[in-house]
Amino acid sequence: MNIHEYQAKAILRKYGVAVPDGEVAFSADEAVKVAERFGGRAVVKAQIHAGGRGKAGGVKLAKSLDDVRGYADELLGKTLVTHQTGPEGKVVKRLLIESLTAIQKEYYIGLVVDRGAGRVVMMASEEGGMEIEEVAAHSPEKIVRETIDPAVGLRPFQARRLAYAIHIPGELVNKAAAFMSALYRAFVDNDCAIAEINPLVVTGDGNVLALDAKLNFDANALYRHKDILALRDLDEEDPRDVEASRFDLTYIALHGNIGCLVNGAGLAMATMDTIKFYGGEPANFLDVGGGASEEKVTEAFKIILSDSGVKGILVNIFGGIMKCDIIANAVVAASRQVELDRPLVVRLEGTNVELGKQILQTSGLKIASADSLAEAAQKIIELVK
Ligand code: ADP
Ligand code: MG
Repeated sequence: MNIHEYQAKAILRKYGVAVPDGEVAFSADEAVKVAERFGGRAVVKAQIHAGGRGKAGGVKLAKSLDDVRGYADELLGKTLVTHQTGPEGKVVKRLLIESLTAIQKEYYIGLVVDRGAGRVVMMASEEGGMEIEEVAAHSPEKIVRETIDPAVGLRPFQARRLAYAIHIPGELVNKAAAFMSALYRAFVDNDCAIAEINPLVVTGDGNVLALDAKLNFDANALYRHKDILALRDLDEEDPRDVEASRFDLTYIALHGNIGCLVNGAGLAMATMDTIKFYGGEPANFLDVGGGASEEKVTEAFKIILSDSGVKGILVNIFGGIMKCDIIANAVVAASRQVELDRPLVVRLEGTNVELGKQILQTSGLKIASADSLAEAAQKIIELVK
């Protein structure tokens, strides 16, 4: 889960990570009020869940309160298109107003989980402000790393080694090292998946601080961070993803025309593979999980059908814990409720499969049944043509 920059900075501040003074604003009036604290010399920053705002005109440097009002009016409600938003862009609804920092040089600091090593890795670069992917592609030697032992955390010598490697001025190395340690503590305490400070800056008056902050949290750990979950901004998410998570469905939209409704992630992957093997294109990955109740199947149908690209649905369910007759009843009830207007192929296997098939056949609905996954895939591909 992502959060906004101003929210990330508030969390980091609590851990002693240095960030500029600033506050969120939802209107031009609020923006001006915050900027009064800085005598109008403020940065007006669009808050969207995407980077690249600077290049796209979403970060404005104001010299007066009139500037602040002008920029706030310009940005609020504007659709900002950056290299991370996709061509449709994102509408700006919040601004961060913060004090203008006198930048001497920009650096990069990132924390990620290295799956190979099974450890958190801190990355640093003297090429701050740029996209780190660009640096990695063109000058990989400019990125240095320290792998962190979870038992002892980031050790002071590791932090100093990173600071020296990216040429932080000697007299500021200790400050930079303290910054890195605080950032690591915030990362671990909050079960982050990614923390990215780009840029970290050194100022003329000898400070080291985060001008930008991106935090991404491990969704599987959010149950123990209710305060972070409360920061979720549904405006920033695909409405179908929001619906799916409300009903505990795992849904990922794709670009094909065959909607898939499956129980179990492994079976869902196999279903998509089989559709592709026979020349079709899945429109989504959707795992309804072990307890596929009528309510869940109905919601899953609604989500799949809200995608106008979907020309047909393939239901592939293995009745283990959940019996096939119960699933068949759920599919029939859901089809009626959503007034299914597109072809549907159902493949059931497992406990009470004969009873399940009978329910589908006698439902009076146009549901094609299949005995194997191969047959089901071929049937739905034929029907969506
Ligand atoms: P993004 O990564 O989305 O482009 P950033 O927060 O990194 O947004 O801002 C882009 C650039 O704007 C930074 O690299 C920095 O040069 C400048 N900037 C951002 N915040 C401030 C600030 N508080 N004071 C001065 N300059 C800033
Ligand atoms: Mg940035």
